[in-house]
Amino acid sequence: MLDSKLKIDNVETFLLDVPTIRPHVLAMVTMNHQSMVILRITFSDGTQGIGEATTIGGLSYGGESPESIKLTLDKYIAPILLEQDYKSVGATMSFIKHNIVANRFAKCAVEMALYDALGHRLGVSVSELLGGRVLDRLAVLWVLASGKLETDIDEAQRMIDSRRHNVFKIKIGKRSVDQDVAHVAAIKRAIGDAGRVQVDVNQAWTRAQANRGARMLADAGIELLEQPLVSSDVEGAQHLVSLGVIPIMLDESVQGPKVALDLVRAKAADIYAIKILQAGGLTEAQEVISVAKNSGAGLYGGTMLESPVSTIAAAQLFSTFDAFEWGTELFSPLLQKDSFINESLDYSDFQLTVPTGPGLGISLDQEKVDFYKR
Ligand SMILES: [Mg+2]
Repeated sequence: MLDSKLKIDNVETFLLDVPTIRPHVLAMVTMNHQSMVILRITFSDGTQGIGEATTIGGLSYGGESPESIKLTLDKYIAPILLEQDYKSVGATMSFIKHNIVANRFAKCAVEMALYDALGHRLGVSVSELLGGRVLDRLAVLWVLASGKLETDIDEAQRMIDSRRHNVFKIKIGKRSVDQDVAHVAAIKRAIGDAGRVQVDVNQAWTRAQANRGARMLADAGIELLEQPLVSSDVEGAQHLVSLGVIPIMLDESVQGPKVALDLVRAKAADIYAIKILQAGGLTEAQEVISVAKNSGAGLYGGTMLESPVSTIAAAQLFSTFDAFEWGTELFSPLLQKDSFINESLDYSDFQLTVPTGPGLGISLDQEKVDFYKR
C-alpha cells in the first residue's frame, strides 16, 4: 500500500571524481578521471533512492557539466522535491518538467532515484516497474581508446582471451582519416574473426571526410560507423545512410524523443544509441526506443561513462527489451579504477548480469563516496 502522505524529507548530492584505469582518448578530450553527480533522496517512510548524472569530459560533450548538474539539483530541483506532497514518480517528473526547461541529465538523475526508492518500497527491481524484465544479461562491448596501436591490440586480445568482451569500439577522429583508418584496420587484422570492430568519430569529421572514411572503414571490415558528423547535421547523416556502404549510428544527435522522431522521419540513421541521461530520463529513453524500434532501425545501449549507479539504471531499462540487436556499451564501471557501491557487478562471457534486488539492486558504499567526494 502506498502511503498517501508520503513526503521527500532529504535530497543530497555528491560530486565524485574517480580515476580511470588508463587515459581514455576521445576526439574532443582525453579523460584521466570521471566526475559524476550522485543524488540520494530520502522519503518520510525511510525509503531511499539513488540516482546519478554525469557527462563526458565536462562540457566537451554537451550543454550540461557535472558542476552545473549539481547546481541545478541543489538550487532548483531539490526545493521542488521537498515542497511537494509526493504522489508518484510520474506526477513528480511531470511537475519538474513543467517548471524546469532543458537540463535532461539532471532530470534523469531524479527519475532514477525516484524509481529506485519505489522499487525498495515495493520490493521489486526497477526493470519490473518499467514493464518487466525480458533479459537477465546484456551484451557489453569494450572501448579501445588508449590512442596507441600496440596497447589497443593487447587490450583487445586480453578481453577476448578472458571472455570479457569480443566486440570493440575504437574512438577515432583526432588524427587524419587515413591514420585513423590504418589504426582500426590494423586492430581488425590482429584480432581477425575472434572479434567485431566498430568506430566512433564523436562528431569530428566533415562531410567530405565522412563520405571517404565510410568507404575505407567498410573495406577494412569495420561493422558500424558512429556519429561521424556534428550532431546537428541531419542532412549529412541522411546522405551517409543513403550511400549504404556501412551502417550509420547516431549518438550525440539523439537528444530526446522529439529529436529522435525528427531523425527517424529524415531517415538519418540505421541504428540509434540509447542513453538514459541524454534522453532526459528512463521514461524518455523508453520513448526514444519506441520511436527508433518502430521505424525499423537498430538499437544500441549507450553510456555517458557513468558509475555503476546510472549504468545499472540503464541496464534495468534495456533488460525490458529484446530489441537491442547491437548490444550495449555499459562497460564504464570497468574503466573506473574503483567503485563506490557495495555490490560487485558480474561481467563475464561477454555480458553484464542485471542485478535482481529491489530498486536498482545496488547500494552506495558511504566511505568510498566520502573518499571520492570533491
Ligand atoms: Mg558515442
